[in-house]
Amino acid sequence: MVGKGSKLYSILFLKCPRCHQGEFLEANPYKLSNFNKVKVRCPKCELKYSMEPSFYTGSMYVSYGVGIAVAVAVYVLTLIFGLSLKISTLFILIVSALILTGPYIAAVSKSIWANIFFKYDKKIAEDIK
Ligand SMILES: [Zn+2]
Repeated sequence: MVGKGSKLYSILFLKCPRCHQGEFLEANPYKLSNFNKVKVRCPKCELKYSMEPSFYTGSMYVSYGVGIAVAVAVYVLTLIFGLSLKISTLFILIVSALILTGPYIAAVSKSIWANIFFKYDKKIAEDIK
């Protein structure tokens, strides 16, 4: 299981990388008006999410990798289900999957990026419970 204290928990559920309790984004990644806006500070432990201006630009490199992982996952799924698709059908399927998961990929990439720089702090997490 992915529990609090594991980086995966913070990444997949878009929680604060330090306390794993506060929300990381202003809104759900699929709420497009607030598209993937990272909060200024964690509402629980007050961690400042951006170390410097345009801190999250680097997460674009991460989203490239995550996007490829999704594409590979779609391909593997078609193999598991024994679908022998034409390359053009497979291409459309992968592009659709990337569009559908796009907002989440972008959000998860920012979360991964933040988790590279911030560590889970058990003491802080227990203090604010
Ligand atoms: Zn926090």
